[in-house]
Amino acid sequence: MSTVNTKKVVMLKAINLCKSYSTGTEQFHAAKSVNLELFEGEFTVIMGSSGSGKSTLLYLLSGLDTLTSGEVYFKGQRIDEYSEKKITDFRSNKIGYVYQSINLIPDFTLLENVSFPGYVAGRSKNDIHNQAMNLLQMMGIAELANRLPSQVSGGQQQRAAIARALINSPEVIFADEPTGALSQEQGTIILDILTEMNRKSQSIVMVTHDIKAACRADRLILVKDGNIDGILELGKYSIEQLKARENQIFEFISERGQ
Ligand code: ADP
Ligand code: MG
Repeated sequence: MSTVNTKKVVMLKAINLCKSYSTGTEQFHAAKSVNLELFEGEFTVIMGSSGSGKSTLLYLLSGLDTLTSGEVYFKGQRIDEYSEKKITDFRSNKIGYVYQSINLIPDFTLLENVSFPGYVAGRSKNDIHNQAMNLLQMMGIAELANRLPSQVSGGQQQRAAIARALINSPEVIFADEPTGALSQEQGTIILDILTEMNRKSQSIVMVTHDIKAACRADRLILVKDGNIDGILELGKYSIEQLKARENQIFEFISERGQ
């Protein structure tokens, strides 16, 4: 008889992660000795009030910013000590990043925007073009491939931004409040796309302060004052559980006074 292997595999590991900013004469600690493990194939959601350090944590875990002290490991490799070239390659090939402010290049068509990181990674034109079109198809905006960002809706721009984040087949997608600038309806489309990608084994780390968005999480990490305030294991999302999950998350947050 076969048994299902449910053992979680660590993808990202942070040890005593610290990030301080100098503000005049004072030091501000945006990350205060964070210890954290993120697992392969999981949909991790990070919540916390504004200014609690969510974006900081995402930047540090993804190699987009430098640490003040501590260690970050991606699949056992210490990335915070990578050379400039190695970290650039890492960002280009291993991670995809989606921002709240959608930031597509305004003079590029959606297709060109999606393709761009493929060229930066030095891939062949044909290969990039095919994959970019497939991704635009998957996002439901293939017919808009030749439009400029200004000629499509915010939700469609964000779908293009997700396609762009996926172009080099990253091992993990980081999304910082990807629905924050969108209507409820467009936001739900984005969340459905992320959920679907996760079902196909894509690892996702998403920051949000919307409980509905947080419901998509396998695991919820609550941040407060630059540190972890609590972790809630939720397991795979299904639409039937939405209401129960919303309540569960609401209680979890309330219990911690957030
Ligand atoms: P969140 O994403 O949870 O809203 P951030 O991670 O953006 O929070 O910021 C956490 C704290 O760090 C905030 O108080 C913010 O003002 C501060 N901070 C972030 N970036 C800088 C910076 N470059 N210089 C000074 N303080 C910063
Ligand atoms: Mg933020």
